Amino acid sequence: MKTNANKTIYVDNAATTAMSDAAINAAVPYLKEVYANPSSLHTAGQVAKEALDDARARIAARLNAEPKEIYFTSGGSESDNQAIRSAAANGAKRGKKHIVSTAFEHHAVLHTLKKLEREGFEVTYLDVHENGIVTAEQVRAAIRPDTALVTVMFANNEIGTVQPVAEIGAACRTAGVVFHTDAVQAVGHVPIDVKAMNIDMLSLSAHKFHGAKGVGALYVRRGVPLNAFIEGGAQERGRRAGTENIAGIASMAAALDDACEHMEENAKKERALCDKLIRELSRVPHSKLNGDKHNRLPNIVNMCFEGIEGEGLLLLLDDKGICASSGSACTSGSLDPSHVLLALGLPHEVAHGSLRISLSEYNTESEIDAIIEAVPQVVEYLRNMSPVWEALEKGERKHLI
Ligand SMILES: *Cc1c(COP(=O)(O)O)cnc(C)c1O
Repeated sequence: MKTNANKTIYVDNAATTAMSDAAINAAVPYLKEVYANPSSLHTAGQVAKEALDDARARIAARLNAEPKEIYFTSGGSESDNQAIRSAAANGAKRGKKHIVSTAFEHHAVLHTLKKLEREGFEVTYLDVHENGIVTAEQVRAAIRPDTALVTVMFANNEIGTVQPVAEIGAACRTAGVVFHTDAVQAVGHVPIDVKAMNIDMLSLSAHKFHGAKGVGALYVRRGVPLNAFIEGGAQERGRRAGTENIAGIASMAAALDDACEHMEENAKKERALCDKLIRELSRVPHSKLNGDKHNRLPNIVNMCFEGIEGEGLLLLLDDKGICASSGSACTSGSLDPSHVLLALGLPHEVAHGSLRISLSEYNTESEIDAIIEAVPQVVEYLRNMSPVWEALEKGERKHLI
């Protein structure tokens, strides 16, 4: 395995986080000793079942949900897929085949919606304001008598903007429409109360708050119909068959407890570091912070630098041991700029030069200082080689930011 862990500055926590000691320690007994099947009637099985019940109750409590409203899944993508498909199918039974969403959702939501469109559903994708926010007013205006579902993300994974979820939830409840939110970036980072916010369905994923990869949950409010995702057994109240990932689930509960207990202090630390990054990197000429300055997660900064390619920036930062992201799905080999930045109305040329820095409480001030030193150097280096930048400097092209 190739690692340079002691030199790496890891600031790609919106992609995934390191597991916390609390999460690792909580998993170990279920990998070593308590390995019985929770569906088994013997004592060992019942011990495993108690661990499952305990994790479900603790995760529910952190969202102000009931334990029976939590369904364990393999992560955020599965939760998003199943919530949307189930709400769509149940709407269709009553002749409702319209869905409201936004243009800047995660692909787990967007691709599911695209598939539903091919199956005869109609989707309204709300425009996102330049500041990365959709309003409850937009949602209210888009709801129709045949609307089966509203799905709007809690916090955007590329730019970190937090949506007015409580207001959107209230609008949906008044209209009698099911409201799902992809809260994968928000859970464990900002306070969430599914009752107060009128949320009917919510997706979460452990590896975005220092839990393990491949485990997550879907909250579904009691009374909201939920179809089975996997047939074959009575697990998860008959909705998702298969022997449960107890180690992952127990460690998810521990990770969430840890994240929620330290939420304020973590946010304070991350926010101070992000503010410093924004302040210092904004000194780079023709740069721009993406997304609202205030309604944002404490840990995500996304900026554009005109005249460069985000991919080049990332590779040169990687050479310096800095693991960041362009925020777009560059891993898929796509050369298109981020759909999120385009949804904010940024021109293609500008959206190409994006950098997402996403922190966790494990990051230090000296790491941030190293980033503040490296990014302007790399941007300048890339600009000096860029024909686009040369044209901008000569006045042959107009600066866009
Ligand atoms: C990471 C992420 C997902 C996908 O979660 P997985 O557990 O990796 O499947 C979905 N939505 C958002 C907003 C995310 O950030």
